[in-house]
Amino acid sequence: MKIAVLPGDGIGPEIIAQAVRVLEWLKRDGLPLRWQQAPAGGAGYDAAGDPLPPDTLRLAREADAILFGSVGGVQYDNLPRPKRPEQGLLRLRQELGLFANLRPALLYPELVGASTLKPEVVSGLDILILRELTGDIYFGQPRGIREQGGERQGFDTMLYSESEIRRIARVGFEAAMGRSRRLCSVDKANVLETSMLWREVVTEVAKEYPQVELSHMYVDNAAMQLVRNPKQFDVIVTGNIFGDILSDEASMLTGSIGMLPSASLDAAGKGLYEPIHGSAPDIAGKDLANPLATILSLAMMLRYTFRREEMARRIEDGVRRVLAQGYRTADIWEPGLKKVGTVQMGDAVVAALAG
Ligand code: NAD
Repeated sequence: MKIAVLPGDGIGPEIIAQAVRVLEWLKRDGLPLRWQQAPAGGAGYDAAGDPLPPDTLRLAREADAILFGSVGGVQYDNLPRPKRPEQGLLRLRQELGLFANLRPALLYPELVGASTLKPEVVSGLDILILRELTGDIYFGQPRGIREQGGERQGFDTMLYSESEIRRIARVGFEAAMGRSRRLCSVDKANVLETSMLWREVVTEVAKEYPQVELSHMYVDNAAMQLVRNPKQFDVIVTGNIFGDILSDEASMLTGSIGMLPSASLDAAGKGLYEPIHGSAPDIAGKDLANPLATILSLAMMLRYTFRREEMARRIEDGVRRVLAQGYRTADIWEPGLKKVGTVQMGDAVVAALAG
């Protein structure tokens, strides 16, 4: 069980330090874990002039899984695009073929007040958004800005091949099989050719999974349904750009960005695991960051790459227990509860695991 640990920038090193304490605990408990750290993002640029230094990429390639913090910072905002921190992450996903992005949006009962939606709309929420990550309009060619009729024109190409749709659809059906066997495919087939093909191929793949109930929804409706009645969904599968927007919307249903993990997987189950939030420069270095999204990302790693469901659950139960005990970092704190910093939250999780 070889893990590349890439803390990144801002709060990245602080939250990763707490996840590493959980790794240490798992190792003491008998899991054959090995890990090594390397710089990425702005830290990679500082160390080697590259947001994804060759040594970091090599380490990531050799590992079974990658634990990623977050990247970005104002000091890097004016660098040429290939040198910017987020390019390191985008390249890593491309280089490793991490095409399936899994984002659970799960609302812990203790945090129901953190959502901006009414408790009855969100309580018990547990959905999984599956976003295709390496295709679509973000990568389609041609793209550019050109002169046309005496003015500039910007253009991009939305593009999916059958094989790309088929493999993400399969991940969706497999995920649905492990949950409540309902899959909603989101597209814009009433307007876009790409989506017409998407719908056709997903419908074909459905024949391999007769136990799963497949539905289709247009993306504009899905955006509306997610805030109207999010509990109607279980697993949602969608393309890169729609998934980008819907997964951010879904994450906000829970109201706590510091709580949400994610996984990006390749065809063989190798994965990059990271919290969904960014590097939060506003709170970096102040022991204020919530490390739970990163710790929960580690739980996803045990589930999806290492197939150790019982260990994944143990970590998730540990997090639940800590919340039930009233520990809260500032982002999820409410009067009457115990406000703790990043390190104390790590202490509480390790204690809950040991207890
Ligand atoms: P952000 O997610 O970093 O922060 C948004 C807000 O949420 C901030 O107020 C922040 O303090 C808070 N927040 C985020 N994570 C938190 C945590 N764990 N605990 C407590 N509060 C938390 O988004 P942003 O401010 O738009 O971006 C900041 C930087 O992060 C930018 O450079 C951006 O490019 C980068 N970014 C990186 C990633 C990534 O590494 N995958 C993702 C998104 C943004």
